[in-house]
Amino acid sequence: MLTVQFCGAARTVTGSQYYLEYTAENGSKFRFCVDSGMFQVGNRLNLFKINSRVLFEAPKLDAIVLTHAHLDHCGRIPLLVNKGFGGRIYSTEATKEIAEIVMHDASRHIGEGEMAELTELTGEIRASATKLNERTGKLYDSHDVEQTMLRFRTHEYHDKFKIHPNIQVEFFDAGHILGSASVVITEISTGRNIIFSGDLGNIDKPIIQDPEMICCFPKTTHIFTETTYGDRNHPVLKPKQRLREIINTTVARKGKILIPSFSVERAQEVIYHIVSLMREGKIKNIPIYLDSPMASKVLNVVLDHPELYDKEIKSKIKNRANPLIYKKLSILETVDQSKSINGHKRSCIIIAGSGMMNGGRILKHLQFYIEDPKSSLIIVGYMAKGTLGRRILESEEEVEIEGKFHKLAIEHHKINEFSAHADQKQLVKWASSIVRDIPKADQNPPTIFLMHGETDQVQGFKKEIHARLGAKVKTYWPHFSEIVELWK
Ligand SMILES: [Zn+2]
Repeated sequence: MLTVQFCGAARTVTGSQYYLEYTAENGSKFRFCVDSGMFQVGNRLNLFKINSRVLFEAPKLDAIVLTHAHLDHCGRIPLLVNKGFGGRIYSTEATKEIAEIVMHDASRHIGEGEMAELTELTGEIRASATKLNERTGKLYDSHDVEQTMLRFRTHEYHDKFKIHPNIQVEFFDAGHILGSASVVITEISTGRNIIFSGDLGNIDKPIIQDPEMICCFPKTTHIFTETTYGDRNHPVLKPKQRLREIINTTVARKGKILIPSFSVERAQEVIYHIVSLMREGKIKNIPIYLDSPMASKVLNVVLDHPELYDKEIKSKIKNRANPLIYKKLSILETVDQSKSINGHKRSCIIIAGSGMMNGGRILKHLQFYIEDPKSSLIIVGYMAKGTLGRRILESEEEVEIEGKFHKLAIEHHKINEFSAHADQKQLVKWASSIVRDIPKADQNPPTIFLMHGETDQVQGFKKEIHARLGAKVKTYWPHFSEIVELWK
C-alpha cells in the first residue's frame, strides 16, 4: 500500500513537500518525502509557524528525494534533521551543491532575508512574522545544515537506484535550474509508477537542457505536476533582445545599468546573455560587476558542471567563448569592493542581490543612482507586493530606501520574458507524453494531482489537459494536509 500526504504546495505555490508511506508485503513501513521546501508566498500571518510545523514524525522518516535546490523545495530539510530525521537524502550532485548554498543562506536569514523577500506579505504582516522569529529563535542554524549535508547521496539522471528493497527511483532532467529533476518512482515487484514533475523549466533557456519528456512508463498510476503557469503561455520575445536595447540606450547617454537579480539561475542567465551580446559586438564592452556572494557561489557550481549544459553553451565553449567567463566580468566579494565601483564616470553593469530589492547590496547602488535619469534599472524577476521592487514598478514618485527618501528618476524597465517555469503548452505536452504510453488509459485513467498553483493556474491547466486528453486522465486538486491512497 502507498499513501501520500500533501504537506505543501497544495493550493499554493510554495512549501513543496509530499509525505509518502509505503507498506511492504511483510507489513513493514517505509516513510519518505519528495521535497521538503519552505513556504514563502501567501498572506498568512505566520509563515514562521507554518514552516515550523511538521505533519509527520521526523525521526521515523526513512528518506527524502529532492527534485531541485530552490528554497521552496529544499528549505525545510535542515528542520527535519534538527527534529531527528536520520535517513538519506537523494538528489543529483548539482542539486546537492546548490542546496548547500541555499540552505546556509536560509539559516542566516529566516524571517527577514530570503524568506521575507519572497513573500507577498504587507509591511505590517512582515513585521509581525519577524517579531515571532525573534521570540522563538531560528527555524534552524548552520550546524543543522552541516548535518543535513552528510545525509546526501547523489545520482545522475537515468541512474536507477533503490531507496527501499522494493522501491526504485530515477531522475529525469526537468530543465528548470542546474541539476533539477523530475522523479519516477517504481514499485519493483509490480512495475507500477508514480511520477513527480518537480518544477519544470521553460524551453530554450540558456545554459541548461530543455525539460526531458518522460516516456515508456505504461504502468503509471499517478502524476504530480506543477501548474505555476498552468493558465498562460509565455511571450515569444527574447529577453536578450530587450537587454540589448536597454543597455545600448543607457550607454549612449553615459548611464549605469543596475540589475537586481535572484542568486540561483537568474543571475547566471543574465550574465550569459550580456556576455554573449558583448562577444557578438551587439553592445559595448563595458565592465560587468557581479555583486552577490551567493550568486557567485552558484556561478561556481554552474561552471563545475559542464556535463549538464545544453548544445548552445557547449558549442560556445568549444570556440573558447564561454559566456560565463569573461575578462570584463568581475566578481565582487567584499563590501569594500562593492562600494568601490560607484561614483565613476564610465558606464557599467551591476548585477546584485537581492532579487526584489528588499535588502542586499543592490540597495547601496540604487541609492547612488536612483535620482540619475541617465541610468537604468532592469527588473528581471517577480516583484512581490510590499517590496521596493514593486513600489518602483508602480512608479511612485518618491521611494524610501534604508530610511531615506529619494526621487525616482532612474529609468526602470521590466523584462517579463525571463521565466524558469514551463508554460501551459509545455506542461500539457509533458504530462501528455506520459499518458500516451499508458494502454487503455481511457478505461483506467491515471490521476494527475494539480500542484504548485493557485485557482487560476490550476483551472487553466485542468481545462487544457482535459481538452487534450479527455477522459484519459482524472485530475485532482488536493488540499493542504490531505491524505490520499495511491496503491492498495
Ligand atoms: Zn523551482
